[in-house]
Amino acid sequence: MISPFIPFLDLRAGNEVVRKELDRAWRDVLGHGRFTGGPEVEIFESEFAEYCDSAHCIGVGNGTDALELILAALGIGPGDEVIVPGNTFVATAEAICAAGAFPRFVDVRPTTLEIDPDAVEEAINPRTVAIIAVHLYGQMAEVDRLESIAARHGLVLLEDAAQAHGARFGGRRAGSIGRAAAFSFYPAKNLGALGDGGAVLTDDDEIASRVRQLANHGRARESHWVHDVSGRNSRLDTLQAAVLSVKLPKLDEQNHKRRVLMQHYREQLPRRCMPLAQHGLAESVHHLAVVQVRDRAAATHVMSVAGIGWGLHYPVPCYRQPAFAEFVDEKLPVTDRAAERILSLPLSPTMTVAQVDRVCQVLSRLRGRS
Ligand SMILES: *Cc1c(COP(=O)(O)O)cnc(C)c1O
Repeated sequence: MISPFIPFLDLRAGNEVVRKELDRAWRDVLGHGRFTGGPEVEIFESEFAEYCDSAHCIGVGNGTDALELILAALGIGPGDEVIVPGNTFVATAEAICAAGAFPRFVDVRPTTLEIDPDAVEEAINPRTVAIIAVHLYGQMAEVDRLESIAARHGLVLLEDAAQAHGARFGGRRAGSIGRAAAFSFYPAKNLGALGDGGAVLTDDDEIASRVRQLANHGRARESHWVHDVSGRNSRLDTLQAAVLSVKLPKLDEQNHKRRVLMQHYREQLPRRCMPLAQHGLAESVHHLAVVQVRDRAAATHVMSVAGIGWGLHYPVPCYRQPAFAEFVDEKLPVTDRAAERILSLPLSPTMTVAQVDRVCQVLSRLRGRS
């Protein structure tokens, strides 16, 4: 039987699948009482580092902190410019501003809506120090080209992998490519905690130890009582780490389910709803099922009437946000055009093919309208 209501994202059902293990994790942490810095944190850090083919994982408070801590560890700050896509979640640009540097927004590819390497190259100037490759919607940015651009110009390549846990490009994992990568474990992400969480992944020993220090009040390695630099408090709680260790072994299977559902969408959607293209080397983990439609108001109307959830990522592009107006002096036509057409369809690993069929059926009612 098909439920008449199809949620945009069913977090409750997703957690129900691992209910028993979550209950046990909660009891274990309650039992030993080390609510911060407990043994579960180190265990998850080593599991996730291995999963991402990376030498170090440092658990932090959230994905935005992860980005900001990476920039701070690299000494990126006032006077520095960091290139980011105009189409991303605000956190990417926010972290750059928090570090005291300037975001330089560039346009995206019309077919994938991922950062356009040609636009990156054009934007490079003497103040540029880094490029943040955002792996948006679960698909990785064109990291092969971005790596060679960064190398040619002596820039640091970083990854915002908050939407891409487990994604690959040319067989390489998200989080293993840049000098450092930021992940978020916000509940709605592909690997989500039961609250906020984040991580920094890197092969660079120096960056790893600096991030660890900055996230722990600038505390010296040798002494609990000495603080070498003015840092902050940003940690992955023991309980969240325990939850993430329960969920990590299921991630590949859940990403596979997302892939199957997305394939079904591709086959069943009416022609008016165009899913984003996939780069030939990219293995997406489909964080979001984004399509482009010309008459979005009509599409969201028929969905709402039918009891189907939907989302918009993002109707006001990051670079158009009033918060960043002072850093913007040109329009990004591809980003602007996409902002009016993008529509995120329901997608959760617990969703059924029958539910995807129903969404496609409802969207087929758009036929004949403009
Ligand atoms: C979610 C997200 C972040 C921020 O992560 P938080 O854990 O919410 O701080 C950063 N970048 C992108 C692309 C995201 O989707």
